[in-house]
Amino acid sequence: MVYKYLFGPVPSRRLGVSLGIDLIPYKTCTYDCIYCECGKTTDLTEERKEYVPTDDVIKELDHFLSGKPSLDYVTFSGSGEPTLHSGIGRIIDFLKREYPEYKIAILTNGSLFCDPAVRKAVRRTDLVMPSLDAVSPLIFEQINRPKTNDPERIIDGLIKFRSESEAQIWLELFIVPELNDSEEELSKIKEALNQIDPDIVQLNTLDRPGTESWVEPATTENLRSIAQFLKPLKVEAVELYDGRRKFASFNEDIARSIFATVNRRPCTANDLSQILGLNLKEINKYLQTLLEEKKITYKEEKRGIFYIGTGNERAE
Ligand code: SF4
Repeated sequence: MVYKYLFGPVPSRRLGVSLGIDLIPYKTCTYDCIYCECGKTTDLTEERKEYVPTDDVIKELDHFLSGKPSLDYVTFSGSGEPTLHSGIGRIIDFLKREYPEYKIAILTNGSLFCDPAVRKAVRRTDLVMPSLDAVSPLIFEQINRPKTNDPERIIDGLIKFRSESEAQIWLELFIVPELNDSEEELSKIKEALNQIDPDIVQLNTLDRPGTESWVEPATTENLRSIAQFLKPLKVEAVELYDGRRKFASFNEDIARSIFATVNRRPCTANDLSQILGLNLKEINKYLQTLLEEKKITYKEEKRGIFYIGTGNERAE
């Protein structure tokens, strides 16, 4: 079976071995973050609908999971905001009913949690990973460039979700130097975090090409001092995590796996080597072939050469 909506499993620094589910067409989101690794949002929307057929996603999951793969999480992520998909609740219910042994995670910007229907749809997930990068509308606009600029509404939605669900909440705070790392903004964020009461706050910063090339990563020292500032909240800096776990790829077609991976998220050859569990030399051979076929391109960044899918085309 060719999977159109599943990808990986990928070794995630935060989630271990994670099977990805991508429900949203590239690049549809409620935000257009300056640091987004997927590129600029071309459809900035808050319209919830069935962007891809729910039944087809369920069929793919059933096919993949019936093989009883070893996974840490089945994760809603990909190239847009997953809660925009109106069938996400039905997919979660299917997983809980048919494959309760797998934990479900959702990577979300949290912007639609103000909608009771969204909170209800994702209530049964095991882990929700929302983001909150700013509380001041001006800074929220500068970083996230949302469809609706109302951070209070988002914070309120997350507070409500906390009281309605038993899911773990690992909230991501993406630090953009000079924008949201002032003491004034961090104090406001801390106040909001205290109200939301997440299980963990994860500090993140740029490590792949972002949408805007002027965005700089925060230094390790800066992340450490912000973590200190936010105490007694439980804070982790994603940037300081150990390397990714070694894992066995479930994809048989190596070229297709590489293509699918870089089409969703730019990666270095080293990342791909870790993601796919293959020797770097072997990876480089496939990369060369994909470059020659013009299925991928590349861009030089601080951390090295990142390989990028050339468009919306999915691996055939
Ligand atoms: S980082 Fe997430 S929330 Fe921001 S534009 Fe990209 S997909 Fe949307």
